[in-house]
Amino acid sequence: MTYTPIKKVWIEEGCISCKLCSDIVPQVFLVEDDRDCVLQPEATRHFLPLAEEIEQAAEDCPVEVIQIERGAE
Ligand code: SF4
Repeated sequence: MTYTPIKKVWIEEGCISCKLCSDIVPQVFLVEDDRDCVLQPEATRHFLPLAEEIEQAAEDCPVEVIQIERGAE
């Protein structure tokens, strides 16, 4: 099976600031009180080592606003 790395992660509108994603992967997601989730400044360097956790966060986000794009560089 060929593994396609994560190329891009972004948050669509509608985040409810529940902090679930930043609890799972604090290296990638930053959620300040009552503010929409944003990516950490250094997020991209964690896309490869933390791919599974990022996918988990996207799957578990209650409003499904975490988007992931896969693909070769
Ligand atoms: S899990 Fe989803 S709704 Fe919750 S803070 Fe993260 S992006 Fe926002």
